[in-house]
Amino acid sequence: MDGVGAYHGRVETFDSLREAVGRERSVRSVCQALHFGVSELGSPSVGAMHITCADESEHECVTAFQLGFAQYVLPALKFAQQSPFRLANLGGRYEWGALPIAEDHYATEGSKTGWKLLVVKVNSHVAMMRGKAGRTFGLLERYGQSSSCCGALAALLGGDVPPFTDPVREAFLSEGQDRLAVLRDPAQVDPGVRALYAALVSARLQARAVMLDIQDHEPASPTLYLVLPCVTLNEPGPDGEILCGAYVADRRGGTGREEYFGLGDDPAAYRVREEHGKLVVTDPGCDALREARDHRRMVLSSWKTRTHGAAAAVRDPRLGRIRQDVGRSLHHHHPHAKLLLKALLVVLAEASPIPAAVLLFGVGAAGIHHAFRAHRLTSEKADPEAARRIVTEIHDRVDHLEPGEARGLLEMLLEEHPHEA
Ligand SMILES: [Zn+2]
Repeated sequence: MDGVGAYHGRVETFDSLREAVGRERSVRSVCQALHFGVSELGSPSVGAMHITCADESEHECVTAFQLGFAQYVLPALKFAQQSPFRLANLGGRYEWGALPIAEDHYATEGSKTGWKLLVVKVNSHVAMMRGKAGRTFGLLERYGQSSSCCGALAALLGGDVPPFTDPVREAFLSEGQDRLAVLRDPAQVDPGVRALYAALVSARLQARAVMLDIQDHEPASPTLYLVLPCVTLNEPGPDGEILCGAYVADRRGGTGREEYFGLGDDPAAYRVREEHGKLVVTDPGCDALREARDHRRMVLSSWKTRTHGAAAAVRDPRLGRIRQDVGRSLHHHHPHAKLLLKALLVVLAEASPIPAAVLLFGVGAAGIHHAFRAHRLTSEKADPEAARRIVTEIHDRVDHLEPGEARGLLEMLLEEHPHEA
């Protein structure tokens, strides 16, 4: 692969981005820093995805990305027209499965003989007004009246439950941490910065979701991913922006390293101050370079720690019959393995949904879009219904499994469920 050797060890060239973490800049200057950083890398090919809230106030942020970055570095979609892959929805949510589609689009011939950089910019947003008493966050004056901005995050914080808040809420509650409760607690988060912190956390969590899809995806051409959670500061004047951090994932062969630097996802840990009239947000870990985590392994190991490594025995005569068939190696015949696996999944969905869902997620059989849910299954407050949905989803896909895969899952699930006494 041309260029890869020259590049190794130069992830640090994102220095300009590291300096920008947590610091208020104009939306133009963030895109410019990104453009310069990317040009320095000399990647043979570049692709981009931009995720924003549907709110019309995000127009300026979208335009800045187009004019300050996309038009210089992306391949032309049509004559002299460059365009990022875009998601715009309520709350600026990542939609599971979008990354593999975008990656496929930008897997150009040039990227197949060399490699490509795929930039994913994830914007959440918050209104910022300046008054005599300082800055206020969360309400924007527009069209002669005051409105919530981001309205979707405000609805979530206010406890509203319209359908669009479900996936955003799921992210806020992921890994057993109730970040919404922290944001609502005045002892942990000053209500004056609540809307700002909610936007920072949201961008950070949605970027993590992108990263999970990256970790689970085999790219169509060698790819260096750069995932940037950002918060737009919408004001009556030119908008500002805060870069929360950056994930770097190297999928060009070789070491496959994955790193993150920047703010974490705990709103109680954020501190905000002003320097030369600009906001600066920090938290205790924001200067450290961290390795991105393997969520499948994390889910499996935290469940094993809690249960001392085993599922409870299932007393069900159907399980005994499946075990007998497997004992007689009937599952070495692929169609039979699928039949037995389906029967086993029906039993486990009823009798042992949480261990089954965790195990299936841990070994990669359940989609990575279940990551936030799977983390919650390892906690005391696990919801068996959520687990049942995961197991049922796999049950419905058994016929599409590769030969050998059904047999492997069958043996694994039986082994992890001890013989009934
Ligand atoms: Zn919004």
